Amino acid sequence: MRTLLIFIALALIVMIGKRLLQKSRTRPTQRAVSANMVQCAHCGIYIPQHEALARDSRFYCSAAHRDEDHD
Ligand SMILES: [Zn+2]
Repeated sequence: MRTLLIFIALALIVMIGKRLLQKSRTRPTQRAVSANMVQCAHCGIYIPQHEALARDSRFYCSAAHRDEDHD
């Protein structure tokens, strides 16, 4: 009975340890991505800045929206 409890305790420690490692690994990349999100000036969708099309300090999700947005 004791060995079973020790085994369960070790399994829990390993599981929690793995989760903590995964969280600390994924967090910095998610922050970096969300920090570079820009909004399309035409439809309002959010896209990564490196995928957006820029014109006159505005960003667009596609060439069609960039061309449609006149003002
Ligand atoms: Zn758009």
